[in-house]
Amino acid sequence: MEAGSQRHWAYAMIADVTIEWTDTTWDPLVGCTRKSAACRHCYAEALTAASAQDKQWGYGFAEVGPAGPSWTGAIALREDRLALPLAWDAPRRILVNALSDLFHESAPIETIDRVFAIMALAPRHIFQILTKRPKIMQTYIADKATPGRITHEIDEIAPDPNSHAIAAWPLPNVWLGVTAENQKEAERRIPVLLQTPAAVRWVAAEPLLEPLELKLGTWLRDAPQRVASSGIGPWLDWVVAGGEIGVDAQPCHPDWARSLRDQCAKGGTAFYWRQWGEYIPTVGVTAGAGPEPIPLTWERLGARPATRTLDGFLHETFPET
Ligand code: SF4
Repeated sequence: MEAGSQRHWAYAMIADVTIEWTDTTWDPLVGCTRKSAACRHCYAEALTAASAQDKQWGYGFAEVGPAGPSWTGAIALREDRLALPLAWDAPRRILVNALSDLFHESAPIETIDRVFAIMALAPRHIFQILTKRPKIMQTYIADKATPGRITHEIDEIAPDPNSHAIAAWPLPNVWLGVTAENQKEAERRIPVLLQTPAAVRWVAAEPLLEPLELKLGTWLRDAPQRVASSGIGPWLDWVVAGGEIGVDAQPCHPDWARSLRDQCAKGGTAFYWRQWGEYIPTVGVTAGAGPEPIPLTWERLGARPATRTLDGFLHETFPET
């Protein structure tokens, strides 16, 4: 293992993976493969490989090679984790598959059905799904046979003489989201998401690798259209954003974050600024306020927790449900 990979690996092992916009993560799937630039510093790959080294749950799904951790390509449902949300009595926001992608090309449809059956059986929770494979998600959600298959799985998981078809489709407690780390992926993924029936549609612009144009009036509602209830849309309901973490992560320019904040404000869209990533802007974060532009400088924080403010304010809004 060369030095850079060692640092990357070591960093991934200690990375703080707290996800502030959710209450709990639930990982019924194990295994994944990289899809786009956002996967460059995938902590799921590192955590799964670390577990594999001890022959624990990650064994067979990721491994440590000369270049560091890597996925094997295997995907599986973890039956021991599947029903966990049913045991959580208090309502929670639950991120589904922080360590995988529910709509991975290799995930069997029966596996996705079983995950949705659990979500249908726990309407007290909100389930936040994030994918980099929205076309598979769209096909799954739009398939008229999907609700019937999920009902069948519900009957298998929780046999009940009064069990019946799920009450509503799409499930009102499931939020569907896509990652959009750059404009190219935003153009690819967001239109597909907007064509997918969902109670809430959201975007994770994390890691934010460049400025994003979220197309007010097309992807984000604009105010007159919102008030008029004109039937135009649907729109994005929530935007989460944050910087990149990793040994060779790039800094996130504060103007990229400001732009997302301001676009969401114009459209009345909920915006959540999660974190700055590996580097935090120090001097120059308020550049442009005075007569002389202040040069932007950065402090490298690594795994240390950073302030999560943007121009002095926390941005932690959630979509209305
Ligand atoms: S899709 Fe998610 S879990 Fe899979 S490799 Fe990319 S970042 Fe990691």
